[in-house]
Order: sequence, then C-alpha cells, then structure tokens
Amino acid sequence: MAERFDVVIIGSGPGGYPAAIRCAQRGASVAVVEKQLIGGVCLNCGCIPSKALLASAHTLLTVKNAAMMGVDVAEASPNWPKMQARKDAIVAGFRKGMTSIMQANKIKIFEGRGIAVGPGKIKVEADSTPTEIETEKIIIATGSEPIEIEGIPFDGQTVISSKETLELQQIPKSMVIVGGGVIGCGMACIYAAMGTKVTIVETLNRLIPAEDKWVGALIEREFKKLGIEAITNQKVTSVDRTRRPAKVTIESGRAIDAEKVLLSVGRRAVCDKETIDALGLKMNGAAIAVSEKMETNVAGVYAIGDAVGTTYLAHGAFAEAEAAAANATDGDEKIADYSLIPRAVYTFPEIASVGKSEEACKDEGLDISVGKAFFKNNGRSAAHNETVGQISAIKDNATNKIIGVTMVGTRVTELIATARALIGSTEKITEMSFPHPTVSEVLKESVEDAFGLSLNKPPKA
Ligand SMILES: Cc1cc2nc3c(=O)[nH]c(=O)nc-3n(C[C@H](O)[C@H](O)[C@H](O)COP(=O)(O)OP(=O)(O)OC[C@H]3O[C@@H](n4cnc5c(N)ncnc54)[C@H](O)[C@@H]3O)c2cc1C
Repeated sequence: MAERFDVVIIGSGPGGYPAAIRCAQRGASVAVVEKQLIGGVCLNCGCIPSKALLASAHTLLTVKNAAMMGVDVAEASPNWPKMQARKDAIVAGFRKGMTSIMQANKIKIFEGRGIAVGPGKIKVEADSTPTEIETEKIIIATGSEPIEIEGIPFDGQTVISSKETLELQQIPKSMVIVGGGVIGCGMACIYAAMGTKVTIVETLNRLIPAEDKWVGALIEREFKKLGIEAITNQKVTSVDRTRRPAKVTIESGRAIDAEKVLLSVGRRAVCDKETIDALGLKMNGAAIAVSEKMETNVAGVYAIGDAVGTTYLAHGAFAEAEAAAANATDGDEKIADYSLIPRAVYTFPEIASVGKSEEACKDEGLDISVGKAFFKNNGRSAAHNETVGQISAIKDNATNKIIGVTMVGTRVTELIATARALIGSTEKITEMSFPHPTVSEVLKESVEDAFGLSLNKPPKA
C-alpha cells in the first residue's frame, strides 16, 4: 500500500524546506521529494556559495589595502583551491544541518524526481523502481533554471551559467558576463578580485537596472576601480568558441576575448510537464499561476518560490512558504505579503533597497522628498575606510511617512532590515536612539534629512 502523508512537498529549496518544517510544526505528516541536493539552488549553487566566494574576495581586497590602514603585510594572492574547498565545506555543513532538522521534525525525505500523477498521488522516480506516495495536499517548490540566449547555448565549458561559474577549477584570465543584473554583478566582483579581466555587457543603459539611476552610476564608477569594464546599451551578437579564448562580439562590432562567458540574463520558473498535464495546472508562461494564498487552480495543490515566478528571491520563497504551509494545514488564511520584501545585491560595494524607489514614485506621480546621507561623513565608516556610498530615504509628502529606502555601501545588506522597520516612520525618528559611532547612523540621518531635519547639513537659505 502506498505510504500516505498530509502534505507532500516537491523540492527542498528556500520554498520547500521551510514549508515542510512549518507544516510539521502544525502537526501534519510531511514528506519532501528532492531530485538533487537538499537546500536547492540557494544553498548548493546560489546564495550561499556565492557569498562564501565573495567573502574570500573581500578579504583578499582588504588585505591588499591593508597598508593604508597602517598594516604592512607581504603581498596577498588568492589560493583558489582553498577558497573553493572552504565554500564547499560551508555548503556541505548547512546541507547536513538542514537534513537533520527536517528529520528531527519527522519529515520523510524521498530522493528522486517527484511527479504528481493525479490529485493526491505522487510518483517518485529514483534509480530503482518508482515509489508511489499519497497525500492530502501538495506544495510544488520546483524552482527555476537560468535563461539561455538564442544562438548562444550553454555548453558547460565556455558558455556557462552561474552554477559552473561558482565551481571553476581555475581562475580564468578573462570573462565576459552577459547581463549586468544581480547575479552578473556579484560574479564580476568575485572574479575581478581574483585578477580576471572582467567585462560586463548589459542591454539596458546601466548596471543593476532594477534600482534607481544613481545606484547604477555609483556601481559603475566603483567597478572601474576594480578593473571591471561595463558596456551598457549593447547586446552580445555572437560567441565564437572555436577560438581559445573565445571571441565575444557585441552589436557595435567590437570583439572581446573571453576564456569564460557567463550568461546571467535571468532565470525562468520550472515545473515538470508531466505534473502540469496530470493536474491540469493553470500556467502563467513558464510559471505556475497561483492565488495570493499560493493555491493553484487545483484545490489542495499549492506552488511557491521561483516556480511561481514572482520574486526569484530566497526570502520571497520563504514568505510564500509561510502562506502555503498555513493554508495547506487548514490554518489561518494567510497571504504572501510582497510589499516590503527587501532587495539585496552583493557587490563591492553592496546595494540594498526596500519599499518604493524614486523612479517608481515619479512614475506614480507621488509628491516626494528625498533625504540623503553619505558614508564619507560617518565616523565609523571613516574609521574602517569604508566611505563609499550613500543612503536615500524617500518621504511621501501626502502622508508625511517614509515609503522607501535605497542604500549603496559596505555591508548595507545587513542594514536593510532596519530600514524596513523604518518604513512608515514620521519625524519621531529624531527621538529614536541609534548607537554612536555606528554605520547605522547614516540611515537615521537619511530619514531625518527627508524631513528636513539633518544635523549635518547647513539650513536651506
Ligand atoms: C548565483 C545565485 C545567487 C543567488 N543569490 C541570492 C541571494 O543572495 N539572495 C536571494 O534571496 N536569492 C538569491 N538567489 C535566488 C535564490 O537562489 C532562489 O530564489 C531560491 O533558491 C528559490 O528557491 P526555490 O525553493 O523556489 O527553488 P530552488 O532553490 O531552485 O529549489 C528547487 C528544488 O526543487 C528540486 N526539484 C525540481 N524539480 C523537482 C522534481 N520534479 N522532483 C524533486 N525535486 C525537484 C530541485 O532539485 C531543487 O533542489 C540566487 C540565485 C543564484 C543562481
């Protein structure tokens, strides 16, 4: 007889594993089906390994700049195999931890491809004969895949995705990164720090085009200092991989040598065709269509994370997992709240934002005041020689409340959760105590400035 569960979750990434644990915490019997590695893209070839390599790259740059802090060191150079091994050990450690926490929650893990063969029925395809399991509810958390460019297919060797880029055995001499978004710019920082000649080709008019214009301009300026060339308003037209290094040609006719070509032009939701057909799932292009309760058009079947194509962020998947788990276990009718999901870009310097951008406010015709504060005027930032960047806080003049914050600076991704808590703030911010000297004072000052209350600016004439 087929084993039976209250909830079966297909996929164990940032959508699947928190959904599984939440369902188990609510008393449900739960199974997770995973065809590759526990933790999904985020843990195994996304968020975590990229941050491990970025941290090594940051350390290398810090040591190279040690002399100006009054610390004389012998010449610093990357030990790439050691950096890779450290990254792999971090990932393996978290994978082990995640597996044991699921087991501690009595979640059964099935290794194999999970296919819904009908409502309440899942087939697990592994090496041996397929197993059938039965369930009341299904949560699909099958993730996404990198998008290919027509005429420039991935080959895993020269034209590669972010996954292979994180696993390179050697530091390449040159790399062309197609796409100046979050993933491309993060990879550019890793490899530029290692000494790779990095060129980014971006179709739009700036890097990180999803953020305000000043962000792209500042990042481009800082990238130049790292030796990264950013070519904007240009498409790659061909890659000649018969040559070593390959020759990447762009619209203008310019040819660029590249030992590796990283295509980072976005990701696309994935769900197995057999599951879509068997359940009769309504789709939104490649993504599974869901209600705000994360329920698909089929009763009792939920979908979350990259598979629904909303945020393509791990913490977006977490938010959706909370809603799906509550609803699948007959809890409160929960909806995923996307309004204040922070955005983070792990570059040198970092970028983070929450709420509305200046450009979105202009498009909506909102009357706004923008407060600005700069890291170069902050004591702690000066002490650390981390003076690049600024924070912009946006106030809606109609409601007199803060509606958005955008930051560029060292480790601002750690500050954005505080900024999120300040959304909706009024002048009362002046009464809130921030420790001195800390980098967080720049955030307070930007919000004060939005109210015309900066302590560090001369009064307006
Ligand atoms: C290089 C890189 C860096 C990133 N950095 C960040 C970051 O810093 N912060 C951030 O918020 N986001 C980041 N992301 C995005 C983040 O990784 C994704 O948004 C997140 O992993 C989505 O989670 P998910 O659970 O929806 O899907 P995934 O993590 O993709 O997990 C889906 C899982 O489902 C499994 N699966 C698929 N089909 C089946 C099947 N039929 N049967 C069984 N198992 C199946 C897959 O093997 C996979 O393990 C990054 C992505 C990349 C590529």
